[in-house]
Amino acid sequence: MQSRSPLRILLLGGTGEAAALAERLAPDPAFAVTYSWAGRTRTPRALPVPARSGGFGGVEGLVAYLRREAIDLLIDATHPHAVRISQNAREASLILGLPLLALRRPLWTPAPGDDWRLVSDTEAAAAALGAAPRRVFLTIGRQDLAPFRARPWHHYLIRSVEPPPSGECPPQAEVITARGPFTLEAEMELLTSRRIEVMVSKNSGAAAVGAKLAAARRLGLPVVMIQPPAKPAADLTFADVEALHHWLLRSSRPGIGPSAAPARRGV
Ligand code: NAP
Repeated sequence: MQSRSPLRILLLGGTGEAAALAERLAPDPAFAVTYSWAGRTRTPRALPVPARSGGFGGVEGLVAYLRREAIDLLIDATHPHAVRISQNAREASLILGLPLLALRRPLWTPAPGDDWRLVSDTEAAAAALGAAPRRVFLTIGRQDLAPFRARPWHHYLIRSVEPPPSGECPPQAEVITARGPFTLEAEMELLTSRRIEVMVSKNSGAAAVGAKLAAARRLGLPVVMIQPPAKPAADLTFADVEALHHWLLRSSRPGIGPSAAPARRGV
């Protein structure tokens, strides 16, 4: 019996969901997945599939990579705030006629009792903290700290997976390095022990780091929420790992195959 060659997938990652999808696809001989991460963190998650790191060199570099590696399908499972790589993926997939699937988890929305101020970028978030000194919990990662450095009158508790580069922190700052998931109890304890008055967060929709919002609600703390810019549309978009995996399983069955993917059918 002739075995079918595996569907070659480039999985653009950097999120817990991308890692979870890689876990699901790894043992399945129908798929040959390469996980791609930007290489910003020095300690990436352990992955069960081959991984590559670092930028491709824009759309041109990505197109060259996809051709060289004979990729059949591109999956964009990047963070909601990572827009450039999603734009590049869209462009490259159109140039090559490759199907593009996207994992776009729903963003957080305020619940009763939440006191959110929605802003569109880190500069607006820093401005929203105001002119009076406040104790701020900053959970936006380790990049983009310049607008907060420019407001040195606040005290910042900065939590990121890896410490910010030296010289990037505002003068009054405590840094905690940690990767979620976090529990509600731990988040309440952190906010209380550091006497936090306001939280700044990127709206990412991630379950693993959502407990901080529930903790802010319980404590009646305001949250400055940075909304992500819009990402380009993919051929098919899924809200969770399970739905995307299910679609891949169905479309890889004999008789359906990778050619059933939407861009190739012109859907
Ligand atoms: P970005 O602005 O969209 O991308 C900047 C450049 O980084 C891209 O043009 C690309 O370089 C490279 N890149 C990004 N993601 C890549 C990937 N998965 N594989 C290979 N190259 C990648 O992204 P960002 O906001 O800097 O985020 C970088 C990565 O961190 C993303 O993969 C994202 O999923 C993850 N992440 C981001 C955030 C956030 O808040 N932005 C939070 C958590 C995780 P070339 O043009 O040279 O190909």
